[in-house]
Amino acid sequence: MAHYRVLDHTNPILRRVASPVERIDQKVREIAHNLRETMIAYEGVGLAAPQVGIPERIIVFRNQENKPEGVLINPVLVTSTGEEIGNEGCLSIPGLYGQVPRAQEVMVEGLNLSGKSVKIVAEGFLARVLQHEIDHLDGILFIDRAIPETLRRYVPEEALAI
Ligand code: ZN
Repeated sequence: MAHYRVLDHTNPILRRVASPVERIDQKVREIAHNLRETMIAYEGVGLAAPQVGIPERIIVFRNQENKPEGVLINPVLVTSTGEEIGNEGCLSIPGLYGQVPRAQEVMVEGLNLSGKSVKIVAEGFLARVLQHEIDHLDGILFIDRAIPETLRRYVPEEALAI
């Protein structure tokens, strides 16, 4: 099982707009598979190809049951409704968290690994993950959208303090 190394957000590739996948071939399927392995290895809930240095529009994410099953090629945020502020972090910015306003419910369209068009309607946590990952494809990081004064390093002792 191969997995990639997740790049730090100071790497310029994290700020580039990723290219659409032109053809879903063996290479793309392999990238998606390895992305999934990487997400599991890093205990993430989602991962976008640019985070491992691949500037293509491919994301993986856990599904509603928290199982690492979702893959979307060229995902597009079609509709978004409501707003919800929630805590967020990023595998590319280890240890930093903040409150980020996101749409409460989204509809995302993209292709699966067979090249079939798929539609995902998600709310709450999964909606947040999808928005976070699609942002990565456009070179946007959660720190760009976070309420600045809520951004902070997570200190475990602090969380345990009573
Ligand atoms: Zn991220």
